[in-house]
Amino acid sequence: MTGSVHIDTLRISPEFGARVVFDAPMSKYTSWHAGGPADLLFTPRDVTDLSSFLRQLPVTMPLLWIGLGSNLLVRDGGVRGAVISMNGTLGALERVSAQRIHAQAGVPCAKLAKQCVKWGLGPAEFFAGIPGTLGGALAMNAGAWDGETWRHVTEVDVIDRRGVRRTRPASDYEVSYRHVRCHPGEWFIAARLEFERKPGVNDAAIKELLERRKQTQPIGEWSCGSVFTNPPGEHAGRLIEKSGLKGFRIGDASVSQKHANFIINHGAARAADIEALILHVQRTVAELHQVELKTEVRIVGVPQ
Ligand SMILES: Cc1cc2nc3c(=O)[nH]c(=O)nc-3n(C[C@H](O)[C@H](O)[C@H](O)COP(=O)(O)OP(=O)(O)OC[C@H]3O[C@@H](n4cnc5c(N)ncnc54)[C@H](O)[C@@H]3O)c2cc1C
Repeated sequence: MTGSVHIDTLRISPEFGARVVFDAPMSKYTSWHAGGPADLLFTPRDVTDLSSFLRQLPVTMPLLWIGLGSNLLVRDGGVRGAVISMNGTLGALERVSAQRIHAQAGVPCAKLAKQCVKWGLGPAEFFAGIPGTLGGALAMNAGAWDGETWRHVTEVDVIDRRGVRRTRPASDYEVSYRHVRCHPGEWFIAARLEFERKPGVNDAAIKELLERRKQTQPIGEWSCGSVFTNPPGEHAGRLIEKSGLKGFRIGDASVSQKHANFIINHGAARAADIEALILHVQRTVAELHQVELKTEVRIVGVPQ
């Protein structure tokens, strides 16, 4: 059962058939590779298709929007309702004036970084190491190396659950470190961003940032990046390391030896193992350092 909708009785119009997956295993759609099935997952062809799909869904059906799932822990019981995926779709990216670009929500951050370098615009190189979509970066105010998504946003296009689109100025949003107060019942479908002209910028800057990441982070392993936000004036990773938790393991999940703010799925971790490890880290750090670590990753879905 989904809200007040029985998924078995839900009729999806045949025109959307090829783009709907029922019982979609969320482990396939998240970078932790963990989590149970979503009742249904829809990948729209374009914004018009998305709008029509939303219009025909029962209004009581819960919705979860996802990009590349690089900041999501989906519990083992999965997601009740519909997941709308931006992975591999809504990928238009264009320069609209000397310093402004327009990008749809499905554009991978890495592509945005590379294209901005080609256009001689910056600083956008920081996007290169963020393995998500622009939509996810807008929802999270993703950032790295002193760069932050919303410093560049001038306007966003959003869609509501009746499929109605509107444009909002950046000033409509309260934004802080890895946090954006979004308007309930609206999701990002595109944004206009402004950069400076940086004619000298080239791929070498991106390569250098990616190299720095490789040296300090467990890139290539199954993770969600930093699990906790940094408390004011501190580094979550340093507190976790000082608590002796590097390598601490529950099931097939462990605190990374390379960067203590990363939790690695070694292959067979369940979401419950990862969540238990998150709680254990929070409790230990609170006990030893009197600091309450807050999760940067979003935990969604139902336990098994
Ligand atoms: C190896 C690694 C390194 C990382 N490094 C960084 C880093 O340096 N800096 C950083 O900030 N993050 C980092 N992350 C975390 C993650 O990549 C970012 O948070 C990213 O912005 C998430 O984008 P996504 O598209 O994968 O979003 P998802 O993980 O799919 O979703 C994240 C949240 O955004 C919401 N959302 C997604 N799309 C939309 C949309 N279109 N409209 C409204 N809401 C939406 C989701 O509902 C969810 O709440 C890293 C992750 C990994 C695995």
